[in-house]
Amino acid sequence: MKKRIEEKKDKNGRIIRHGRPIPFTYEELLKWMLQKFPGAISGLFPNGRIQCRYCKELVDCLTAAIDHEIPLKRGGDVGLSNLEAISRDCNNYKGGLTPTEFIALRNWLAGMFCDAARFDVEGRLKKAVKLAASVNWSRKSKAKSIPK
Ligand SMILES: [Zn+2]
Repeated sequence: MKKRIEEKKDKNGRIIRHGRPIPFTYEELLKWMLQKFPGAISGLFPNGRIQCRYCKELVDCLTAAIDHEIPLKRGGDVGLSNLEAISRDCNNYKGGLTPTEFIALRNWLAGMFCDAARFDVEGRLKKAVKLAASVNWSRKSKAKSIPK
């Protein structure tokens, strides 16, 4: 995370991600995290746990993934109001879908398949999303390393 912070900043010192300055500071992000996970400081879990809105898994500040509710590629805001804490599995699985689309996909799978088949299909989709993300990251890294 520190490397990302040092990567790009605008003239006002704001971190640049996806071509846009992040409209909050690191301290504001920490405050947001503490509001999401009220037991995080005291370590009094499960008080610091919340339920993933999609799969209902209990996650804490160490096991949750911070997701852009509306994906940045779909025009989502880069501010704190567009962040939500969900399970890592759901974050990987959701990819570039909006919450409505992701819920529709999950409901469609639940209606089409028995539990065993649905878990199998969901597992394959999660692997495909992870693979696509790693290939995309690899391409970006190679593109950056090519001298102009
Ligand atoms: Zn989940």
